[in-house]
Amino acid sequence: MQILVVEDELNLAKALKRILEHQGYFVDTVEDGLSAIDYAKGMEYNLIILDVMLPQLDGFEVVRILRMDGVNTPILMLTARTSTSDKVAGLNGGADDYMTKPFEPEELLARVGALTRRKGEVIVNSIKYNDLELDLSSAMLSSGGESVQLSHKEFEVLKTFLTNPTMTIPTETLLINAWGLDSEATDNNVEVYISFIRKKLKYLGSAISIRKIHKIGYRLEVSE
Ligand code: CA
Repeated sequence: MQILVVEDELNLAKALKRILEHQGYFVDTVEDGLSAIDYAKGMEYNLIILDVMLPQLDGFEVVRILRMDGVNTPILMLTARTSTSDKVAGLNGGADDYMTKPFEPEELLARVGALTRRKGEVIVNSIKYNDLELDLSSAMLSSGGESVQLSHKEFEVLKTFLTNPTMTIPTETLLINAWGLDSEATDNNVEVYISFIRKKLKYLGSAISIRKIHKIGYRLEVSE
């Protein structure tokens, strides 16, 4: 079992590493959000333990970026803050569990055990949101018993929305996810593919539509 610990308080990072290694886990530690993203995308971890208050990108940003990039590793957020709104922000942003500092080693190990067990059992092969289901291996989009095949770019664009179904997605993010960083594709290319996807949603009779948010991007909307 490989665990990534992201914590800028070095004494705490060392303590976490010691506690976890004592239980037989292999532990990497990094101290900031950008390194966390590099490591999490470069290695198959069973769990990421992620502090909220970090230099550069904070923990919430790290979760958001990892989930947007399709990294499904379970994430346990650590924070000194105790307010409920932080907890909600962390879990809505794609974290799996949340623990406030200070904590007892037994509590940490119990949560780590629960999250790493779950990883072995859940195989994500489709994303569901409202009446939609997107099959990640076949790129088939289904709703209410009807199915339609998506092209590669339609798939990448829609997957970005369904992974973050309540967020406004910047056009730039859609360009990067579907066309890549080096592409010369423009906002117009995105617009064209959004229109293809809209036709397919309409064909399926889905309650989901895609709304353009002027000068920002697009978001999903659910009709009543
Ligand atoms: Ca910190």
